[in-house]
Amino acid sequence: MKAMILPEFGAPLRLATVPVPKIGPNDVLLRVRATGVGLTVVIMTAVPGRVTSFPRIPGHEVAGVVVEVGSEVTHVGVGDRVTCHFYLTCGVCRFCRSGRETLCPASPGNVGMASDGAYAEYMAIPARNVTPIPQGVSDIDAAIAADAIATPYHACREEARVGPGDSVLIVGAGGGVGIHAVQMAKLCGGWVLAADITDEKLAAARDCGADALVDVRRGDLAAQVAKLTDGRGVDAAIDFVASRETLEGSLKSLARAGRLVIIGSRPTAVFGADSSFTVDPRHVLGSMLEIHGSRYVTLTEIAQTLEILRQQRIRAIVSRTFPLEGAEEAHELIRKNALVGRAALVLES
Ligand SMILES: [Zn+2]
Repeated sequence: MKAMILPEFGAPLRLATVPVPKIGPNDVLLRVRATGVGLTVVIMTAVPGRVTSFPRIPGHEVAGVVVEVGSEVTHVGVGDRVTCHFYLTCGVCRFCRSGRETLCPASPGNVGMASDGAYAEYMAIPARNVTPIPQGVSDIDAAIAADAIATPYHACREEARVGPGDSVLIVGAGGGVGIHAVQMAKLCGGWVLAADITDEKLAAARDCGADALVDVRRGDLAAQVAKLTDGRGVDAAIDFVASRETLEGSLKSLARAGRLVIIGSRPTAVFGADSSFTVDPRHVLGSMLEIHGSRYVTLTEIAQTLEILRQQRIRAIVSRTFPLEGAEEAHELIRKNALVGRAALVLES
């Protein structure tokens, strides 16, 4: 089969012909139809230790058709269209059993990092990781639902606890995940302030329903938020950038009892700058602020996200599609921060 492989750490992806993966008794084999391309893949392939062996096929935001099932698999069959959970987990630890599987201490890593992923014509994956795609949801939309849309679902609902009347700051609102967070926060009833740093990304956020725009190039984030909220601040700030500057600005932007949700990840190895930030405990105590780390989703939340897409209550924003061979070009655009919304690889069926 054709695949885009990462031959060694730090090398560009290259097209290769490799064997179709073999499956175990608890796995399924997918014919890949579409794969999302986002910053997560670009960052993780650049952080030493995340890819566990080379050559590796990256890609985890997948929509595919089941073409083979292992002997023990009963809940999914050949011909089913499915998408996948991004974490390889044990399924039996206290976190896996309490709906917090992204904290599984026995996890060997992620799909596309610790196992071969979806930048390929076929992908093998544990059957436990897949969930069916409802009719009426396209392959591309379903692929990016698995991360770029589901991640904001968890962040808005469980971490930021956005409800009607809440004001919500989305930092990095024009990016692949942020653009869906704008819509998700609106769907939860929030009044959304969208922050970003290019005209194109701010315009995209506005098109997706943002109530106010914060152009971070124009100076202090918190000061702009204060102005837009009559000095009150926001009930929740969800930071998809998570640099020192945005985190300190987001924290400063919170109203009393506000929630800061950290989703972005900027490893020093990739970005060259330390993103550690300063927290004044008296501020956190006095205003009873909450700081949350929001790490991906559960498989149930992916299923719920697919249902929201089926109901057409969120628009999947995929601004560019590429053939499989275009994966490196897509990565390059992401490195340059030149993509609005998500990119996807579309494979011929
Ligand atoms: Zn576990």
